[in-house]
Amino acid sequence: MKKFFRLITSLLFLSSFLALSSCSNQVETVVYPTAKIAKETKVYSTLALQTSEYNKKYNSEIVGTAYPGQNILILETGGWEKYKIQLPDGTMGWIDAQYIAPEKHTFIKINGTSTNRHIASNIGAVGANRKIVKEVNEKTAVTRLEEVSQEGARGSIIDWTRVRTEDGIEGWIMSDYLYRIVQDTPRIVARKDWQYGLKSFNKSWVGEPISDFWQKYKEPSGIALKDGKTIQYFNNIYLFEGPVKYFGTRVYVKDGLIESIDGGGRKTNWIGYLPLSSALRIDFLANYIGNWQTTIIDEDNPEAETKQLSDYMPEWLSYVVMVLIFLTFLAILYFILKLPYYILNRFLFKVSLDRKLYNGRILTYAIIGTLLVGYPYYVLVTVHIYPFNDFFWITSLFSLGMLFGNFSKWRNDLDYNRCNASTCHRWTGTDNGTEFLGGNTVTQRVRFSDGSSETNRQTTRKYRDYRLCSACGHEWSIVRTEVIGKLRV
Ligand SMILES: [Zn+2]
Repeated sequence: MKKFFRLITSLLFLSSFLALSSCSNQVETVVYPTAKIAKETKVYSTLALQTSEYNKKYNSEIVGTAYPGQNILILETGGWEKYKIQLPDGTMGWIDAQYIAPEKHTFIKINGTSTNRHIASNIGAVGANRKIVKEVNEKTAVTRLEEVSQEGARGSIIDWTRVRTEDGIEGWIMSDYLYRIVQDTPRIVARKDWQYGLKSFNKSWVGEPISDFWQKYKEPSGIALKDGKTIQYFNNIYLFEGPVKYFGTRVYVKDGLIESIDGGGRKTNWIGYLPLSSALRIDFLANYIGNWQTTIIDEDNPEAETKQLSDYMPEWLSYVVMVLIFLTFLAILYFILKLPYYILNRFLFKVSLDRKLYNGRILTYAIIGTLLVGYPYYVLVTVHIYPFNDFFWITSLFSLGMLFGNFSKWRNDLDYNRCNASTCHRWTGTDNGTEFLGGNTVTQRVRFSDGSSETNRQTTRKYRDYRLCSACGHEWSIVRTEVIGKLRV
């Protein structure tokens, strides 16, 4: 018990230390890069850039439309050339880089080893008619002069841009090698995942200022304007209600205050079907211990990038840590499920010395005791702790296996050690010889397609174990089956 308290105190100390140390960081004012829209495009709530009709995984929704000539802020970058932008009316969401008008002053990016990244005398493949005028081997500043489109094989379009370098050299380059916007590289805001019960989350946030919400969960992934309200998308928050896990969380905001919160997409949350899973959901446990792999973050700075455990150690080591934590909880699960066996075994042994309880009754009490202790722990672990909640079926099968293992051990123990004479019931069973009842051996020959073959043998033997009560002389017997070897199925 003392150790347990020490663990809790150190956890509390650790979390308050993290909270205090992050308070001292001043949030700097960020100046976002600006750009203009080149072509009309829909704006999406996630970087999937398609609605959930096509991509159920992201619950992406259209938050608005961007029109040519509109000024935009570039807020975030992510994925392959995708940007999170904000329109003048406040709409926020993701678009593809191709819809952003290129900046006059930009950079050549170097990806790959293709000679196409070099500046050449004219458009087309490098060869006799296209001479390299300047090699580009690092990020190079250039000015865009003009852009032309060339129709390639099978109707594909290749865009070429004439550029001038800072030392005055002019030439042509594939437009794909130029940044769309001048990269004072926009932020990559990695977000920590959060999970809550849908009802309790609404209860704690409805009526609160959205600025506080941003402070805790960071800037949303998208904002849509609708009927004087905003709908703000937080894809890093998962909400639970019974057997449903909601994702693509939407926060409805009016006059800076939160009106309601719901989820855009839904998945089945298997543990939610089981009794007590909602009652045992503890938000603190889920968000600070359960998702331990993303717990180390700077909570109070919305501009700070989320740190994953893997940011602090090589990838292989973070896998090792993950496996160790998995095994630790598994060991606790094993221990917890064994616990009622040991306690009840001792207790029932003592109680049954008065000889009033029969073997069947003792077994029933033992099973009920195991369920009472083991079930809440199993639910608690599976609801909150990664990776148990992600691997619901494995965890559940393992726990079930543990239970049946315990039950059969008990039954065996009672059969062999407790006298079943109606007047005795003492734990005084002793060995009184064994009779071989016969057995058989099955041989199996397996031929494989490559011509090789294999012979398997399985021997099954039956025994009758005789037992004798050393107190009253009562005799009884138990049939035991022994299986040696294994057949291929
Ligand atoms: Zn007896």
